[in-house]
Amino acid sequence: MRTSFYQYTLPELQELFALQGLPSSGPGLMFNWHYKKRKTEPCVIDLAKKSIAYVAENFSFDLPTLDTVHESQDKTVKFLFKFKDDLKVETVLIPFNGKYTICISSQVGCAMKCSFCHTGTQGLKRNLSTEEIIGQFLEAQRWLSANRPEDDRILNIVFMGQGEPLHNFDAVKKACEIFLTQHGLSLAPHKITISTAGYLPGLQRWKAEMPKVNIAVSLHSVIKEKRDKLIPINQRYPVEDVMKFAEEIPEGRTRFVTYEYLMIKNFNDSDEDAHITGRALAGKNVYISLIPFNPFPGTEYERPEMHEVDHFKTILDSYKIPTLIRKTKGDEILAACGQLHSGKNK
Ligand code: SF4
Repeated sequence: MRTSFYQYTLPELQELFALQGLPSSGPGLMFNWHYKKRKTEPCVIDLAKKSIAYVAENFSFDLPTLDTVHESQDKTVKFLFKFKDDLKVETVLIPFNGKYTICISSQVGCAMKCSFCHTGTQGLKRNLSTEEIIGQFLEAQRWLSANRPEDDRILNIVFMGQGEPLHNFDAVKKACEIFLTQHGLSLAPHKITISTAGYLPGLQRWKAEMPKVNIAVSLHSVIKEKRDKLIPINQRYPVEDVMKFAEEIPEGRTRFVTYEYLMIKNFNDSDEDAHITGRALAGKNVYISLIPFNPFPGTEYERPEMHEVDHFKTILDSYKIPTLIRKTKGDEILAACGQLHSGKNK
């Protein structure tokens, strides 16, 4: 049976070639062909004849099917991809200065059930495989090259789409290794960010095993009752433990920890919330990303006014915590943070 080429890291492919007694140059050439040169048909250039035959017999190069595409006025693009079992996920391209950040999904649905998140209302259907994660990038890249050839560069990858990436650790780790491979896409580690709801067992594995990519932790409140309501796994992995863990990350393992703070009107956006957050994080090697809530159908929450978000930032500034307000993009097509959903998955 043929297996997907896109599930293999370079060392894994080299091992397979070595076992067959095939020339060791083959895997690097294939990575270059499929990832750097963006070819979807099997590589035949420079590969030895017996390698070409082995590849034809043992590997498939199928990618997820593009089900629908939505483009917003600000040039954000939202894709709905369908997999072989008809399950679907959304992937988003976010424009900045003529380039793109891609927001990738790691699971169909999500088990974390965060109350502010459209995906959380779906429950977990299943983990995505490495090739399904890689496939979102490659297909989005292909769409860009065909539709916007003048600015078709994806420079950053964020695992902030559907799913808790650290809950699907092995597949996400392999995908990161493939994204970073020099013969292939050759991304720098700081161009990849993994966002977690604070799933502590995954964070522990990230520290021990993951290539040196960025980490972002969903904070949203340091007040237990509020965070319990927003992120139910806070009851199992309390934010104090997550923050303590983050503080102990060795120098050089990450440049800094980003805390994402989703601002919800009349819930966690008061002066008191800002001061409590400021006091908890002052003097630490962290960075806060303030995200105004993005409404989705059926939600009980509302987005604060921009002047309220600015005011919250001013209070955090007084604690000398580097804070940035994340600009909302693609909300009119439900492509913004927390708005993704797989539609009518079976
Ligand atoms: S915010 Fe992330 S972790 Fe929480 S339910 Fe949504 S996808 Fe899952």
